[in-house]
Amino acid sequence: MPICGRGLTCRDHAEPRTCRHLDTCQFKTFLSTRIPRVDCPEHGVLQVKVPWAESKGRFSLLMELLSINVLTECATVTGARRILRITG
Ligand SMILES: [Zn+2]
Repeated sequence: MPICGRGLTCRDHAEPRTCRHLDTCQFKTFLSTRIPRVDCPEHGVLQVKVPWAESKGRFSLLMELLSINVLTECATVTGARRILRITG
């Protein structure tokens, strides 16, 4: 139910997508999904909103929150990247 909130059945699934999530037991963790798409008569074919990430996000929402918190506590972006083990 993107945009209008109309209840629609699944049309198909988007291409596979992977985003970085919080580490699990010090191992990097990635969420790989094929998010359902719906065909709304008003808005066309759209990907549904998922609760764990933004539609084009490279990180889960929880990983984004942790990254922001670490960045605000670190003196440098390089230091925050090293702690979070992320690039770019
Ligand atoms: Zn719609």
